[in-house]
Amino acid sequence: MPFSLHGIGVSRGYAIGRTYLLQRNQPEITEYVIPDAIIEDEIQRFLNGLALAHQQLREIRLRIPATSSSDANAFIDTHLLMLEDPSLTEAPIELIRTRKCNAEWALKIQRDALIEIFENMDDPYLSTRKDDVDHVVRRVQRILASEDPAYLSDPDYADLAVSRLEGRIVIAEDLTPADTILMQHQGVLAFVTEYGGPLSHTAILARSLGIPAVVGARNARAYLGHDEPVIVDGRQGVVLVGLDERILRYYRHKQQEERREQRELSKLKGQPAITRDGVTIALHANIELPEDAVAVRDVAADGVGLYRTEFLFMNRADAPDEEEHLASYLHVIKTLEGSPITIRTADLGADKQVDGGRGGSVCTNPALGLRAIRLCLKDLAMFRPQLRAILRASAYGPVRMMIPMLCSVQEVFQVQRLVAETQQELRDRGLAFDERLPIGGMIEIPAAAVCADQFARYLDFLSIGTNDLIQYTLAIDRVDDEINYLYDPLHPAVLMLIHNTIRAGRKARIPVSLCGEMAGDSRYTRLLLGLGLTEFSMHPTGLLEIKRAVQDSHVGELTEIARRLLRTVDTEKYAEILRTIAQN
Ligand code: PEP
Ligand code: MG
Repeated sequence: MPFSLHGIGVSRGYAIGRTYLLQRNQPEITEYVIPDAIIEDEIQRFLNGLALAHQQLREIRLRIPATSSSDANAFIDTHLLMLEDPSLTEAPIELIRTRKCNAEWALKIQRDALIEIFENMDDPYLSTRKDDVDHVVRRVQRILASEDPAYLSDPDYADLAVSRLEGRIVIAEDLTPADTILMQHQGVLAFVTEYGGPLSHTAILARSLGIPAVVGARNARAYLGHDEPVIVDGRQGVVLVGLDERILRYYRHKQQEERREQRELSKLKGQPAITRDGVTIALHANIELPEDAVAVRDVAADGVGLYRTEFLFMNRADAPDEEEHLASYLHVIKTLEGSPITIRTADLGADKQVDGGRGGSVCTNPALGLRAIRLCLKDLAMFRPQLRAILRASAYGPVRMMIPMLCSVQEVFQVQRLVAETQQELRDRGLAFDERLPIGGMIEIPAAAVCADQFARYLDFLSIGTNDLIQYTLAIDRVDDEINYLYDPLHPAVLMLIHNTIRAGRKARIPVSLCGEMAGDSRYTRLLLGLGLTEFSMHPTGLLEIKRAVQDSHVGELTEIARRLLRTVDTEKYAEILRTIAQN
């Protein structure tokens, strides 16, 4: 019988296909006594488990496509080495013999001991190895504790990199941005998660992949089977199960309509984004990986308004070095053939955690903690190679550098000092860079939006990050689906902060862009034009739709209506003016 599951549609489109259930549940590990007579058998069982784990990882490694952008190979190599290390091969055997316990338990004891050692290490790199120990031990424990052979093939973190997800609809409890990056270019049709909000980086990645996605579909894994035919409606946030011919026909028709719409939009590619009253609007694109630059070129965007470089840090145990940063930037510069590229310095932390543990400390409110520029300024060993690479890249094309999550101008001064030092270093090394590299900042903390005048004085450009600005202004966790209904880009406080930032930029005669998800949502285009915005940056898949909205708009009229909106205190009138803007 057909039924539907409901969540939040975070990436539009319709997918018809079979499910791939991602189960990562860890079996309960308990201790039991092994009689003397079968101790050797238990040791053999343990060795078999190790061998199978080794084989699984080798297979996964082979199946990672050469085009995979992430450093999944290095990640898996580390784990293969660990599986050969005496601390995980010999020590548990000794424990099985002396304690007469089962292999899973021996591994648990050894794991706890290793984690304690790693946690007490001063060296931050070595202390991050504890995550690797956990990954490896969990894999072997799952193999040992599994009665059901099918369980052995359960996907794990790295399995996401393999091609068996191709043509499937991935159903997961949750996906981290790192998982989603691994799924890039694997031909996944759609994904559905039980948790997560529409502004999470996982959702943002789905939009940039251009695949339908639904998040917050609670208990999806309990209702859906593996390899089950389903439809994902990323527009309505619905997953349909128990399909009959009538439903299939309806959605196939929807897919056709959507393709037709895309064909219509593609005609706008070569056209300029000019409003009805002749105002030229710059439409830039957001990218996460160097490979995304192709999509930017395909929609003929004016450039990259936000390059989220933190994704280079994911799915690996170490931090990228200067050359690796540089290679990624040069790839984008080359692909974009002279269009400007705004490289944002690593915005790690909060929901963008990395395996190497550089995502800030474990704290109650990671979004309010050590993330973005705060983390970079604290971890200069990580930050300096990126600064050097950005500067070096600027010798090859029109590059701008952007600082995320600024809160006070002191942070700007700190970055400027570091940049000056880096420039001197490069001069000493005889390396070229653009002496006038523009440095801009993201306005995504309300304090920065209120004080936008100050930032505009010391920076070359501003970019409004509405995803975080809304989160922090309205005190709504952007990844929490339970309070998602409160996430309101049209809240008067949000619009006032956006307007104040645009005004500050105009006064200081510096460009102001908006690169949060709001920029790629055509429901807000007219409003933003009315607030004075002339530069938008969004995922490339949404750019042509925004261009169409721009071409249909009249800035002069919208400015007048937006002015009235900002003055209105009456909530009903406020809603009415918003409706007028939407229709104008
Ligand atoms: C934002 O906060 O609006 C933004 C563009 O940055 P991110 O989504 O990467 O936090
Ligand atoms: Mg942000």
